[in-house]
Amino acid sequence: MGRFFINCDEASILSTREQYGDLNPKEAFRHKLHQGHCIRCRSFHKNNERFQRKLRGLKWVTLSDSQKDSIKKRIAASMKK
Ligand SMILES: [Zn+2]
Repeated sequence: MGRFFINCDEASILSTREQYGDLNPKEAFRHKLHQGHCIRCRSFHKNNERFQRKLRGLKWVTLSDSQKDSIKKRIAASMKK
């Protein structure tokens, strides 16, 4: 992803990864930039955040480090497609 502007697919992946605090500053910037001109992704991200907050509120949902790792790997793999 060397480009400045990303498409909606990439934005949705960034939005998901952002929930895990997994974005570097460049990615976070691209994501913000995309949300700035794309209403659809903005609302997708809002829903994502709401969902994550709910999950965090439910104490029984906790991801171990190895689970988080496997999620990251799966996301990274899907970005290579
Ligand atoms: Zn979009």
